[in-house]
Amino acid sequence: MKTFFATLVLVAICIVSLPTTVAHASALKIVQKPVSFGYKTVASTRPRTIDTIIVHATYNPTLKTQTFAGAFSEWKANAVSPHYAIDRVGVIYQLVAEKNIAYHAGVATLPNGDTNVNTRSIGIEMIYSNKDTPSAAQYASLQALIKNIQSRYNIGYILGHKQISPGRKVDPWNFDYTKISSLFMPATSVFAPPVTLSTTIFQRAIAPLTIAQQSVMQQYSYRARCPVSLGDLRAINVSYHDFNGAVEQGTLVVHKSIAPQTVDAFQALFNQKFPIHSIRPIDEYQGMDASSVAADNTSAFNCRPVSGTSVLSQHAYGTAIDINPKENTNVKNTLTAAVVSIMKNFGFQWGGNWTAKKDYQHFSTNGK
Ligand SMILES: [Zn+2]
Repeated sequence: MKTFFATLVLVAICIVSLPTTVAHASALKIVQKPVSFGYKTVASTRPRTIDTIIVHATYNPTLKTQTFAGAFSEWKANAVSPHYAIDRVGVIYQLVAEKNIAYHAGVATLPNGDTNVNTRSIGIEMIYSNKDTPSAAQYASLQALIKNIQSRYNIGYILGHKQISPGRKVDPWNFDYTKISSLFMPATSVFAPPVTLSTTIFQRAIAPLTIAQQSVMQQYSYRARCPVSLGDLRAINVSYHDFNGAVEQGTLVVHKSIAPQTVDAFQALFNQKFPIHSIRPIDEYQGMDASSVAADNTSAFNCRPVSGTSVLSQHAYGTAIDINPKENTNVKNTLTAAVVSIMKNFGFQWGGNWTAKKDYQHFSTNGK
């Protein structure tokens, strides 16, 4: 009934707009450029499930100006193809029908461990030199295309090629991941949404994970072979001062054994008006550390190895917290001795004290 009514409204709108030359706002302009290579046809009797979008970048090193034709010859030479491509002025091209499997990801692994990335994904290539960034028009078209795809499928992941093929791929290079994450925050619906508080009194809460939070985490941060159970993790809410001095409420996921001391530490930082950019669970960044870091987000639990190794990080145990990761990297530190001392008082050892390779954003209860 609801669908029927919606159809009627849609028909009515179409009729009204027919005499004018105004295009439908929702309709995307897409130039069709079907390819004869780089994809596999899927029988319509056994349609594939699409739940992932992968963003790539391509350029043609023989050309000074990057064009669709230049990129096309690269794909043709390698017998690969995306479903869509977006050129420098934002024109969207379609090369492969969405129902078919395009060869765009290669050897790759999704955060949930699935390696059949092409089978379940739609690939989008951004055409720009590796010395360049996407243009504003390209970002705008990318966002419009992703929204359009999201309206037709239940999309669980939107990732860059380098995020699923680390060490093998670097594209999309010089890319602003917030252009994607701003379109894609399904986890905000299960964790308390970020709020600016009117009170300047510290607000605190510790709660077991809800079923909805657990299922979102199983898709992102809670990966196979995780050393702790979801039942042993807690979602904690703490107040903090943002970089403008406003009081906000953030959410961290930590192991239950350190939840009280974590809240106490953030209360002490709050009392010092120590500024924090944002505090959100890593699941709001699809469990991807690089995306959370790019957003300068403070976070704790993430079942992942120490970057560049196969050793599980203390974040995988829920006993480590990264604070203001953009201001504090392995070569840059903005944390004062007072901040480090507060964390120490509540049982957190600082990665800035490590002798081998320092990690200034990192605090953990066992010093690892
Ligand atoms: Zn860390």
